[in-house]
Amino acid sequence: MNNEPKKNEKKSKKPIIIYFIVTIAILLVANYSRDAYMNKEISYNEFLNMINNKEISEIVISSDNLVITPKDGTEYEGKTLYTANIKNDKLLDELIEAGDIRFTGKNPKESIFMNAFMTYIIPIAFLYFMWRFLFSKMIGKMGGGMGNIGKNNAKVYVEDQIKVTFKDVAGQEEAKESLEEVIGFLNAPTKYTEIGAKLPKGVLLVGPPGTGKTLIAKAVAGEAKVPFFSLSGSSFVEMFVGVGASRVRELFKDAEKQAPCIIFIDEIDAIGKSRDNQMQSNDEREQTLNQLLSEMDGFDSSKGIVILAATNRPEILDKALLRPGRFDRRVIVDKPDLIGREAILNVHAKDVTLDPEVDLKEIAKITSGAAGADLANMINEGALRAVKHGRKKVLQEDLRDAVEVIIAGKEKKDRILSQKEKKIVAFHEVGHALVAALLKGSDPVHKITIVPRTMGALGYTMQLPEEEKHLNSKKEFMNEIAILLGGRSAEEIVLNEATNGASNDIERATQIARNMVTIYGMSDRFDMVALESVQNRYLDGRAVRNCSDETSTLIDEEILKIVKEAHNKAKEILRENRELLDKISGVVLEKETIFGDEFMNMVCEKYPELKKQDKKEGLDLEDKTIEVETEEIDKKTAIDVTIE
Ligand code: ADP
Ligand code: MG
Ligand code: ZN
Repeated sequence: MNNEPKKNEKKSKKPIIIYFIVTIAILLVANYSRDAYMNKEISYNEFLNMINNKEISEIVISSDNLVITPKDGTEYEGKTLYTANIKNDKLLDELIEAGDIRFTGKNPKESIFMNAFMTYIIPIAFLYFMWRFLFSKMIGKMGGGMGNIGKNNAKVYVEDQIKVTFKDVAGQEEAKESLEEVIGFLNAPTKYTEIGAKLPKGVLLVGPPGTGKTLIAKAVAGEAKVPFFSLSGSSFVEMFVGVGASRVRELFKDAEKQAPCIIFIDEIDAIGKSRDNQMQSNDEREQTLNQLLSEMDGFDSSKGIVILAATNRPEILDKALLRPGRFDRRVIVDKPDLIGREAILNVHAKDVTLDPEVDLKEIAKITSGAAGADLANMINEGALRAVKHGRKKVLQEDLRDAVEVIIAGKEKKDRILSQKEKKIVAFHEVGHALVAALLKGSDPVHKITIVPRTMGALGYTMQLPEEEKHLNSKKEFMNEIAILLGGRSAEEIVLNEATNGASNDIERATQIARNMVTIYGMSDRFDMVALESVQNRYLDGRAVRNCSDETSTLIDEEILKIVKEAHNKAKEILRENRELLDKISGVVLEKETIFGDEFMNMVCEKYPELKKQDKKEGLDLEDKTIEVETEEIDKKTAIDVTIE
């Protein structure tokens, strides 16, 4: 997207290059003239002879040289001679005596040309650059075409250059469907205008980072086979007020010439930020935004220009941008579900050689919460791993490992844990796993490992949801908290001691408890009152408090109650199954990594009824249920990160 600025740079460098060429030329000429000016050296004797023979018409005396101009009709006529200025007290007397020799003195090492260069050329060049700089700044303000600063640097892809089509966008069926209409319009605008239908001028693609918004915008252009003007919101906003506005104007002018076409403004929140409720105003951004608004109103949509924009912070956009006639269509590009993930993996797997045994569905299952970009990255990591092991095909284990590398970091071979620490980590992880296995309705354990990872985990327990969930019950949240606290609980029971390894578990458990109380209406005390609201749902999902300080204190109490209850539950389960905890921890300590089957076999020795039991047993009716935003479900792929 930043091909064009390069071109601009080149353009503005031209005068600099000319300037250098001129300077070098001047220096060469100056040097050459200097050579011509003193082009023959003679000896001091010769010089004295010349005085005696009255062959000299003029002498220029400097501290190190004597520059001699001979008289016409002598041997050196027309040349300039020089000789070293040897200390000679009598020279002056001799010259005066000779009578007809003009002589002058000169300061050391000074040449007329160097002199001219220093006094005129350098200051002039300096002034020239100052002037250019100021002038371009002014031009930027006026939004004119000179100086390139005001010019838009939209990269134009023309028809055949866009190879991306909807085939390259996996999943996201709803988004594609909404955009089909836009494509139809771009292909045959008259079909719509004949009936008098107006198509939306602007479509806003909204979703978390890496879900394929930019990709979809390109695919629309690829499908419609129209030129694609693509520009990032931040590239409008420059240091100088008015530059952005002039860029917007240029962009629309260019686009109108090439209609039907698509204008794509990526990360539009950079200019479209709401104008009110800001401490200090940002003139440049406001002007740019105003220009964009007026251009959007100004152009005739029947010509076939469609503006796509992408953002992951729709809530901060200015209301004026979203009103009918501007970006009135919103297409949600959310994180993919299980089927979507498998489809995306399939699209990207086409680029690599896969072993026929590879089961992408399994990979899709263990990557709940991953966006398209993550999945593309996983396939690539898997391929890299295959190469590293000298294979020609990507195996399932490569992909599995890639997923773990992306979630938890690489295995850290050089971090050697002491036997005692290893033991603690083993108990901790098996604590999580046992609580998970013995709590009805939680996801089955997939893997337990105590191999340290680069992202800080000393070990982790991975659970694998059997199917994608869209609703979580209160009971499931309680289970989840208990599982998270199971690690520390095991340490307490076995070693009667606490370590700092549970900090991440604690943080996540607390967050779930907080959400239960403040957002999901799952506490008795506050019933169904919203005490927090989620701010930017597509980024970190941070929540802001909407309640009084007194209520806040009560919320904290309520959270404590939930966490305590879950903690006690976890400890109870582990105490009752102490021998299982010891046994499995022993195996984990020895093997370092065990998988779900092996783990369940050991558990089933004591609880045969758990064998093959369907762990998903509908929601209990008395549970309050609530629709949960994706972020919460993501955390279900429980990765236990311990000890920073
Ligand atoms: P965004 O603009 O939403 O942040 P991008 O469009 O830049 O995300 O996506 C980054 C990369 O992720 C794409 O180039 C593509 O390789 C991959 N990707 C994301 N979503 C999908 C999808 N639905 N199908 C195929 N690839 C995808
Ligand atoms: Mg993008
Ligand atoms: Zn843990």
